Amino acid sequence: MTNVHNPFGAPCPQVAVEGEIVPADEARISVHANALSYGTGTFEGIRAFWNAEHEQLYLFEGAAHYQRLHRSARILGLPLRFSVDELVAMTHDLLRANDVRTDAYVRPLLLLSGEVLPVRMHDIDSRLSIAVTPVVGDYANPSGLRCMVSTWRRASDASTPIRAKVIGSYVGPALAKTEAVRAGYDEALMLTGDGFVAEATTANIMVRFGKTWSTPIGTDDILAGITRQQLLELIPEITTAKVDERRVHRSELYAADEVLLCGTASIVSSVVDIDGRRIGSGRPGEQALRLRHDLQAIARRQTTQHQEWTTAVYEKE
Ligand code: PMP
Repeated sequence: MTNVHNPFGAPCPQVAVEGEIVPADEARISVHANALSYGTGTFEGIRAFWNAEHEQLYLFEGAAHYQRLHRSARILGLPLRFSVDELVAMTHDLLRANDVRTDAYVRPLLLLSGEVLPVRMHDIDSRLSIAVTPVVGDYANPSGLRCMVSTWRRASDASTPIRAKVIGSYVGPALAKTEAVRAGYDEALMLTGDGFVAEATTANIMVRFGKTWSTPIGTDDILAGITRQQLLELIPEITTAKVDERRVHRSELYAADEVLLCGTASIVSSVVDIDGRRIGSGRPGEQALRLRHDLQAIARRQTTQHQEWTTAVYEKE
């Protein structure tokens, strides 16, 4: 038995390829594509939130995600000929072309699409696509997540660029997730090669002791999450706690008053159990619930806070 469920609907029929909106069937990739064999590419995951009262769809942190895509492309040496503003506009166009009026997940993908067999990054055609999938359910388990510390370690920046969202580097997290789910947990927590806490499979982690939240530093082989960055700003704004970035020990996971995971997909989730040890009261922590509530309200523009994090997709008279 697992709490993992699929929150996605059927993928939207129109996709964007190199800036052109085309039916998804016309955007297939060859089985000979270099990226398919070697994971040579990078991607993003962006959320859009529907506000029924406003009859408006809001793209959440589109610019920040496309800035990260640009950084990932630079690290990998992949050309990306569209600016951040162009990519945000393209995403708005695509959401409108699919008439998306529900929560949605946007997947930009920049990969080596050329039919070239040798392993390398240079002199191979690349392709940028953007696809949209409706989100029909909730990612987060309202009763909180049960996690295990994975036997799989987070890859180090010495072997693969962890600051770039590289397609191929998700095999480790995928193995860790399956290991956790098969063992009856919801999610895996991954340590660095030298045993410090890094992050979950697709989310960053924060631990609270009293009035201080701590989260692993950027040089501890984490992906620099956009939600993590939002919480670094929000925690001192809306709670009486402060937040710091530092190395986090494994044993702190078991001793913390509260543990949360944060990422674009699930926003903020409470961790209630790690390796069979109850965290806090064993129920979702109050601060994590508050942060989740406020961040969701910001994402749907139900508040005046941080309106700079959202952009409206549909034009209004
Ligand atoms: N770590 C990893 C490995 C991830 O894939 C993600 C999801 N992008 C995160 C952390 C959270 O980052 P963000 O808040 O930008 O989604």
